[in-house]
Amino acid sequence: MLYRIIAETYLKIEGTTKRLEMTDYLVELLRNTPKDVIDKVVYLTQGKLYPDYVGIELGLAEKLAIKAISQASGIGEKKIVGMMQKHGDIGVVAEEALKNKRQMSLFSFESSQELTVEKVYENFEKIARAEGAGSQDRKIKLLVELLNSATPLEARYLLRTVVGKLRLGIADMTILDALAIAFGGSKDLRDEVERAYNIHPDLGYIAKMLAEKGPDGIREVRIELGIPIRAMLAERLPSLEEILEKMGGRAAFEYKYDGMRIQAHVGKEKTMLYSRRLENITSQFPDVIEAIGEAFRGEEGIFDGEAVPVDVNTGEMLPFQMVSHRRGRKYGIEKIMEEIPVVLFLFDVLYLNGEDMTSRPYPERRAALEKWIQQTDRVKFAHRIVSGDIEEIKKFFNRAIEDGCEGLVAKNIGEESIYRAGAREFLWIKYKRDYRAEMADTIDLVVVGAFAGKGRRKGTYGALLMAAYNPEKDRFETVCKLGSGFTDEQLANLPRMFEELRIEKKHPRVWSEIEADYWFVPKVVLEVIGAEITLSPTHTCARDIIEKGSGLAIRFPRFTGRWRDDKAPEEATTVKELVEMYRNQVKKVEK
Ligand code: AMP
Repeated sequence: MLYRIIAETYLKIEGTTKRLEMTDYLVELLRNTPKDVIDKVVYLTQGKLYPDYVGIELGLAEKLAIKAISQASGIGEKKIVGMMQKHGDIGVVAEEALKNKRQMSLFSFESSQELTVEKVYENFEKIARAEGAGSQDRKIKLLVELLNSATPLEARYLLRTVVGKLRLGIADMTILDALAIAFGGSKDLRDEVERAYNIHPDLGYIAKMLAEKGPDGIREVRIELGIPIRAMLAERLPSLEEILEKMGGRAAFEYKYDGMRIQAHVGKEKTMLYSRRLENITSQFPDVIEAIGEAFRGEEGIFDGEAVPVDVNTGEMLPFQMVSHRRGRKYGIEKIMEEIPVVLFLFDVLYLNGEDMTSRPYPERRAALEKWIQQTDRVKFAHRIVSGDIEEIKKFFNRAIEDGCEGLVAKNIGEESIYRAGAREFLWIKYKRDYRAEMADTIDLVVVGAFAGKGRRKGTYGALLMAAYNPEKDRFETVCKLGSGFTDEQLANLPRMFEELRIEKKHPRVWSEIEADYWFVPKVVLEVIGAEITLSPTHTCARDIIEKGSGLAIRFPRFTGRWRDDKAPEEATTVKELVEMYRNQVKKVEK
């Protein structure tokens, strides 16, 4: 197929902003494309060589592109750089340069061969894959070869594509429209085309199935291990009452973990991981791969879940940013893995030992998940309850917040509760808390216990159990585990510092429902800053005052570095003060 046909279509598409017109041009292009190159034509039109998850990208450096234009046109590099400054578009520069050449040597141009799609794709692929010594020169040569048989208009699109800036503004959904019309005759086929795309988001492949087999081809598209499925998303409603009503009075409520969505494709030989945007993130999480390999008892499976960084010492979930640091990182992962391990909370299974699970209702999928995955330290099921009792659900919500989650995701448990790949509908409804306030002031808390260190903190304390003072009852009520903000030296010294305060059992003036590894006489006061104050079912501070069964906790507490030697434990921040702070915080947000 001649590349000219593509270039002429792009020119028309560029000339309109109307989606319908764009679709018409695409339909015409698809109808004029032979079956054997239709996938390539679709990828090129997306400005790609493959679907994103394959991870082979075009993105030739502009510097090299300029060299190639110069060589192909005979115009000096300096001049090309000047043209680039003027136009700001490498495509236009190439077009101008070739026009110039054409005027100079009409005869030789006309005798050259016409450019085909196959040739363009072949050279682009070689450019994308070239690496190592001499690869820059090879890339330039491959591009020059294309330019030597290109018309100025073709050069415009060749250059934009090869530097990764084709930008025709065609959304995937527009291509789906065009495919349905081109091969189904009308938009009637649209839903089926989209269904196929949702479970197999490779537009080139879908186009090929349609071109070769017609509408039946689309019905043959299946979930495949190694091809990411478009993630199912949740709708939103403002209250738990509305959610429960929408769900028909009863639903599963799962923790909404605040981490990174991961779709794990576990195979016999290898495991692949994909992000919510379907990028291949396999190389960033070798620990997750190992963990899921150990947890899975079957042969092949596709699992949906959320990876959350966890503090090895407090066991608490950490802010999401700590995981995002791993993104795009190829080196130093070992170190990060050790310091910030992630736990994968699984909430769905989409494919299991050769079977597509997406059309099964949620309760069946969850049961299969629990059957085929053995929970470990690093792979767990999303915490959940199945309930229709609003009080119970509210309590569970508070617990989720206290545990470091964003809220809950309610999941439909009826027959209709299939996994709707790529859809945001009411089968899943998220409920996030409506406030998130910063703690403005530091507080002074008393050390009442400690936990044995893990990982890098082996041999010292991993975290301290901290309490506020309740003068009415003359007791210390726990409010958080404190593990961050200490220097390495301070950490190493902790056991020695607390040696003389150590006691065998919990101090009688300490009210704690958490079992610490070590208990101390309440004496040492530390200054602490946190992200916010939350309700807590585990900590005893202000238990039952704001809500029955709940206390207060400090979220993401951090030692400021100040030892309040000047303060007696009875001068620490009081329970009453924390209640005040909590109420102000809520008020501030409600304003
Ligand atoms: P949002 O990003 O606010 O639209 O919420 C949807 C996201 O919540 C999903 O993409 C997941 O990454 C995340 N999530 C966390 N926990 C769950 C869960 N139990 N079920 C579904 N999604 C979850």
